[in-house]
Amino acid sequence: EFQLFLQPKVLLQNGHLVGAEALIRWKHPTRGMVPPGLFIPFAEQSGFIRQITNWLLIESMRIWRALADQGVTLQMSINLSARDLIDTELPARVRALLIEHRVPASAMCLEITESAIMDDPQRAEQTLAQFSEMGLQMSIDDFGTGYSSLAYLKRLPVHELKIDRSFVMNMHIDPQDAKIVQAVVDLAHNLGLKVTAEGLEVDASWHLLAELGCDIAQGYWIAKPMPAEELVDWSAQWISRVREVFKPLQNQSAPEGCVSE
Ligand code: C2E
Ligand code: CA
Ligand code: CA
Repeated sequence: EFQLFLQPKVLLQNGHLVGAEALIRWKHPTRGMVPPGLFIPFAEQSGFIRQITNWLLIESMRIWRALADQGVTLQMSINLSARDLIDTELPARVRALLIEHRVPASAMCLEITESAIMDDPQRAEQTLAQFSEMGLQMSIDDFGTGYSSLAYLKRLPVHELKIDRSFVMNMHIDPQDAKIVQAVVDLAHNLGLKVTAEGLEVDASWHLLAELGCDIAQGYWIAKPMPAEELVDWSAQWISRVREVFKPLQNQSAPEGCVSE
């Protein structure tokens, strides 16, 4: 009853599709679509999250391979929870799956929240170090809402900060939010990290984020999470939409298409 949805991540500079976040959906036979917020927290408490993460890893790698075989290579972002970070067998399982599905480690990005790390920082740090040695990318999710321990930012093998959508959604009307976004973009760049803004809902924020130097955007304005098999068709439509977005920007060249092998 689980289904994997993908939400595109695109470069703010030119609209190129560079990645997608894998988001789980539960199609319940009688209750209909159950959103992850209604079952992931219970799965985390009960320990069932391990099976969910396992399923998600297999499914996302299978889909990554299928997309790559069609000439579409993107980075796949996956959400890990606190329990996953203390699962000492997880790195070995991921390594085996990468080999089985012929997926390069660098094509996978693990999204981790600050609170998940803070549950057991030492063990989380060990697990993350193993993933990093394997070549996986690491992202701090919902940045700005957790404990925001800057000391951990320095120590963890992180590649990306994901600014929480609560700051991005209204940044076009709330100057305070825009300032926080600017500060996170600068912080990330000073540390040599990429920044993704999530929760981009209006095109005014697209231009604002581009001006602030933010690297990547994700949000309903670009696309809502969709069944994985719809991504290729979506990207074709997105290319024509992106030409409209860049029309007002005379000095930018229109992108040709999504990143392909
Ligand atoms: P998240 O990791 O912060 O994922 C982003 C959430 O924001 C998704 O909700 C997505 O649909 C939503 N979103 C994307 N763009 C916009 C936007 O422009 N505006 C607004 N208001 N929302 C937007 P979703 O899919 O319901 O997932 C909710 C949370 O459930 C995720 O938050 C993540 O923490 C968790 N989750 C989802 N799938 C998985 C999974 O496979 N494993 C784990 N451990 N957690 C998952
Ligand atoms: Ca996430
Ligand atoms: Ca998030």
